[in-house]
Amino acid sequence: MAAPRRGKPPRHWIDLTDAERTDAVADLGMARFRRGQLDRHLFDHLSTESAEWTDISRGDREVLAENFVPPLLTRVRDQQADAGTTVKTLWRLFDGSLVESVLMRYGVPGLRASGRGRERATVCISSQAGCGMACPFCATGQGGLQRNLSTAEILLQVVDAARRLRDGEIPGGSGRVNNIVFMGMGEPMANYAAVLAATRAITSPSPRGLGISARGVTISTVGLVPRIQKLATEGLPVTLAVSLHAPDDELRDELCPINTRWKVAEVVDAAHGYFAATGRRVSIEYALIRDVNDQAWRADALADVLRRDGHGWVHVNLIPLNPTPGSKWTASRRADEQEFVRRLEARGVQVTVRDTRGREIDGACGQLAAVDRASS
Ligand code: SAH
Repeated sequence: MAAPRRGKPPRHWIDLTDAERTDAVADLGMARFRRGQLDRHLFDHLSTESAEWTDISRGDREVLAENFVPPLLTRVRDQQADAGTTVKTLWRLFDGSLVESVLMRYGVPGLRASGRGRERATVCISSQAGCGMACPFCATGQGGLQRNLSTAEILLQVVDAARRLRDGEIPGGSGRVNNIVFMGMGEPMANYAAVLAATRAITSPSPRGLGISARGVTISTVGLVPRIQKLATEGLPVTLAVSLHAPDDELRDELCPINTRWKVAEVVDAAHGYFAATGRRVSIEYALIRDVNDQAWRADALADVLRRDGHGWVHVNLIPLNPTPGSKWTASRRADEQEFVRRLEARGVQVTVRDTRGREIDGACGQLAAVDRASS
């Protein structure tokens, strides 16, 4: 198979700044109000189909679509689980790169498969095609990095999920996106500018953005310390998640190779700094791997590492290891998981065990590999 062509995706309206959008419309010789109309179609109406922009003359519609709304994401395949309330989508990008996103709807009345709790929907999105961080237990890390996604390629994953929910395509009637997690393929902090621009577009009020609360957005990182520090200065109260997976450098060097660059103590300092700057409680992600990082003494060590005037600033999310092809590791025994939880709680650390939603469609944490089975 030919190697994908490297390069930037075609320019999209979503990639332009405010001023650039205004200028772009003027450069085409169109009336100024076309600018606001296009914003509204994309961000309010979630419409990337120019045929639907009926308040714009046919001629202008076509010119706008050709210049600013290229089809960047092509749906290759949808896979469903949980009675259709979990949907993993495989997307093909303009250069043949493949990425995945996962839509999860919870608490649909009368649909037990969607889980308990209040009705809500989360979209898990990718920020890169592949990933360069090479964590050995993660499927995405095994194929290396292909390229960064553009702002539009990131945002359009959210736009598609929001449109499907609104249009009632997911069981439970018309709905909306409450949470967006940068926990799909890639290391968001390694594609900082596009991730930040996409986050601003997600959180900007209508019609310049999707109008979703920053509190509903989680950016997850393997621990790129300078970028965590930078994010703390952006004035965007998003939730930071840090994938720690080990409290000691010896093991973390193996589980997260970037640890050879930024050590556990530096990563935890940066995470606490994020809390201090934003007041947002930080999530620590910890995949429980049988006999690797799930020993009782490591639970104690984790609690110690996270202690900063108490533990109120942090929340630990334990993820039972999800299976990935070729990995020698498996999830912890139930008893070891329970003991790990008990020890954290005994030391005052807030902890939850994440559900393994989407596992049977390889849509759970660390399972996104974006393989097009038809062509592989
Ligand atoms: N690169 C970012 C974003 C990915 S988020 C980061 O590392 O945070 C995906 C989460 O799933 C990360 O916490 C990752 O460490 C975790 N993960 C990866 N492989 C996993 C697996 N096989 N089982 C459970 N969690 C896994």
